[in-house]
Amino acid sequence: MEPTYEVLALRYALMNDRKHFQNFIVPVDDHASPDPMDFLLFAIRGHGRTIVMDTGFSPESGARRGREILRTPAQALLDAGIDPATATDVVLTHMHWDHAGGMEYFPKATFHVQAAEMSYCTGACMCEPFLRRPYDVEDVRAAVDALYTERLKIYDGTQEIAPGITLHLIGGHSGGIQSIRVPTKRGWVVLAGDASHYWRNIRLRNPFPVVYDVGRMLRGFEILNGLADGPNHVIPGHDPLILKTFPPLNGNKEIVRLDLPPIG
Ligand SMILES: [Zn+2]
Ligand SMILES: [Zn+2]
Repeated sequence: MEPTYEVLALRYALMNDRKHFQNFIVPVDDHASPDPMDFLLFAIRGHGRTIVMDTGFSPESGARRGREILRTPAQALLDAGIDPATATDVVLTHMHWDHAGGMEYFPKATFHVQAAEMSYCTGACMCEPFLRRPYDVEDVRAAVDALYTERLKIYDGTQEIAPGITLHLIGGHSGGIQSIRVPTKRGWVVLAGDASHYWRNIRLRNPFPVVYDVGRMLRGFEILNGLADGPNHVIPGHDPLILKTFPPLNGNKEIVRLDLPPIG
């Protein structure tokens, strides 16, 4: 395999009062049973590079939506020894409020996004309140600002952004959501982001209800499985099981190493 990298999941917020029916189009459990959600950032480092995946949500945006914040996304990164003020590369999986809500914390970074996502969040679909709801216009404006100051790179599908690290257009959850494939010592790991919120979405083929194109989301599960070296190598975007499954970084239970084998 190519050069391998360290891969981190970092929790910065959680939502404990979420219910099962909010996470699956076809509930497999009691509709109203608790089904908490974690809010995570991901980071990849090695060979002199650090790549951050998503910027999380701002405290203001979280307060507007009633989400409990444990630490700012910037602090979560600092806890792992990553300074957002000097970070050079941030992959935006998609432009939803909880993934692109902190671009200002990365003043030096180049952002990487799919063309399909930018057209989607600035196009006709945003006339529909249901589809517009997961976006904050401030974040979309920040991306357009970054574009006009040459800090936004826009791709049409698969793109290598560092040796061995590739972006993959998945779609489904939003118009142009992308996932990241990373070579690690345990094999190919795929950071799915919201292409699968929970392991149960992809394993039970049961889509998450915030969705633009259900068919593409389901086909996306196949793409993710094809890119990864096994079911534990596809890392969902919001699953509380992630922190329970992988070993902590330097004893910090809010940050885990996805490049190491599962512990539980
Ligand atoms: Zn999303
Ligand atoms: Zn999300």
